[in-house]
Amino acid sequence: MFIFTKKSDLTAHLKQICTPKTKIGFVPTMGALHQGHLSLMKESLKNNSYTVVSIFVNPTQFNNAEDLEKYPRTLERDVEKITELSKDILVFAPSVEDMYEGNTKSIPFNYDGLEFQMEGAHRPGHFDGVGTIVKKLFEIVQPTNAYFGEKDFQQLQIVKKMVEKHKLPVSVHGCPIHRETNGLAMSSRNERLSEEARNEAALIYKTLKAAKSKFTKHSAKEVIAFVEDTFKKRPNFQLEYFEIADEATLLPCKRKSKTKKYRGFIAVFINNVRLIDNISLN
Ligand code: AMP
Repeated sequence: MFIFTKKSDLTAHLKQICTPKTKIGFVPTMGALHQGHLSLMKESLKNNSYTVVSIFVNPTQFNNAEDLEKYPRTLERDVEKITELSKDILVFAPSVEDMYEGNTKSIPFNYDGLEFQMEGAHRPGHFDGVGTIVKKLFEIVQPTNAYFGEKDFQQLQIVKKMVEKHKLPVSVHGCPIHRETNGLAMSSRNERLSEEARNEAALIYKTLKAAKSKFTKHSAKEVIAFVEDTFKKRPNFQLEYFEIADEATLLPCKRKSKTKKYRGFIAVFINNVRLIDNISLN
């Protein structure tokens, strides 16, 4: 197992092992790895000659200092999990200094409006931070394929848009959401939940599934009212938003169109931990 903490060491190693035909798969993560992350790595291992996994808690994508500070950092355990999966994975775990070289700031990105919806509206600057770090990482790793989870569906669309607009030579692949047995989407932030809260948080996916079923007969407005009402009755939850949006543009669904694909997107706090999830509606 190779672990690189400096971008110069990783690039030197890649230069040594790669020919123009070598396929590099890349899985960017912020660590505190779970089965969701590992499923992305499995997909990469299947389809590439080498897989690089980055573990980097990117400060510029956090709009809340407390969230950044409390973000779980478990590098040793993460490396164990990766080794169990495959000893051939190259781990890149750089410092903030190595990635940002004393200028820990994000670059502004234009994602044709995808950035103004949902997570973008509620987490100002978040997607500039995401674009900044993903672009930097793509330049270092130069992957053939990069794997992102549908758990962060808006991020996946944003990364695809960035790749298209900057004409980056990488294929971006979306991978399905991995869930706990109670339906809760796996997330590094779940580590901050008590066992009781984790059990209660099953309500999120249960409500998304009910919303999906209602969406076959009801309008978006009615389904949104149903979800808002469900969470109003549960004082342990604070719903930040539930939106039904067009998968391609992420614009809210005003009137259903048969030719569009819709998704329900949710952000909800439980015990001060912010969780997001989404579900395909048709
Ligand atoms: P993160 O470490 O949270 O930045 O996530 C790294 C990558 O793993 C992102 O592409 C996420 O969308 C993906 N991911 C996180 N949770 C899950 C999950 N439950 N299922 C599938 N992919 C996930």
